[in-house]
Amino acid sequence: MKGLLRAADAFAAGDSGVKRGRMASLFEVMTGRDIAVVGPIILLGSPGAGKGTQAKLITRHYGIPHISTGDILRDNVSRDTELGKKARAAMEQGDLVADDLVNGMVADRLRWPDAQRGFILDGFPRTVAQAEWLDKELAAESRRAPVVIYVDVSYNQLLQRLTGRRTCPVDGKIYNIYFQPPLKQGVCDVCGTQLFQRVDDTEAVISERLKSYERQTLPLVDYYNRQGRLRRVNGELPVEQVTQQIFRAIEGGAAAAND
Ligand code: AMP
Repeated sequence: MKGLLRAADAFAAGDSGVKRGRMASLFEVMTGRDIAVVGPIILLGSPGAGKGTQAKLITRHYGIPHISTGDILRDNVSRDTELGKKARAAMEQGDLVADDLVNGMVADRLRWPDAQRGFILDGFPRTVAQAEWLDKELAAESRRAPVVIYVDVSYNQLLQRLTGRRTCPVDGKIYNIYFQPPLKQGVCDVCGTQLFQRVDDTEAVISERLKSYERQTLPLVDYYNRQGRLRRVNGELPVEQVTQQIFRAIEGGAAAAND
């Protein structure tokens, strides 16, 4: 009851930081559940490193949202919002969207109630300037500094993962000719349709994407490494083992933050 009163007071006080913090208390009182703060978590890794798969598993395990700046931007472009109009040209050219637009969008998203216990950021930060902005924003909102997980996969392995990908146009099932081939070459196991390779999955396009990603990511890896926040996990192991490494890194980070 005391918690409920405190929550009500904080709501009445109208301070947004307090209000958000107390939303968790209110939830705690109503459900009787102890809510642990998780992360915040930043996932770094090349295209094909398995970040999307791991983000889903982390979301399910800890019940925190997966916030992908690429997804939010694409959604804004498809709905033709003000933000979408401003971001469209850069995205179509494969360039980064301006920092102030992306930072503002992230600041808004982090204020949603579902992100108060923690969140996973995917695709953000992309530059050291964004990382510096995020550090300041988290401190200003009295939130914990992030646990940064780098899903490390070698260049050759990434190339095989991406160039080996084949998709069924009918049921969307994805195979890999090196790691998960269909029973019969070039044909879907489920429906027998001819598999296809995405146009952007060819070696020339992929090696360009990987190099540009590396150019962007290495300064960030360096930035977080110097802060002692980087947790490197071996992304070449089977999915469940990568997940276990990530959970350990998150819980290790949380323990350190609570010391
Ligand atoms: P992604 O799905 O993460 O590859 O993002 C798709 C596109 O959205 C990128 O090519 C950029 O144009 C834009 N984008 C996503 N995240 C960011 C970010 N953190 N900073 C700037 N632009 C971004």
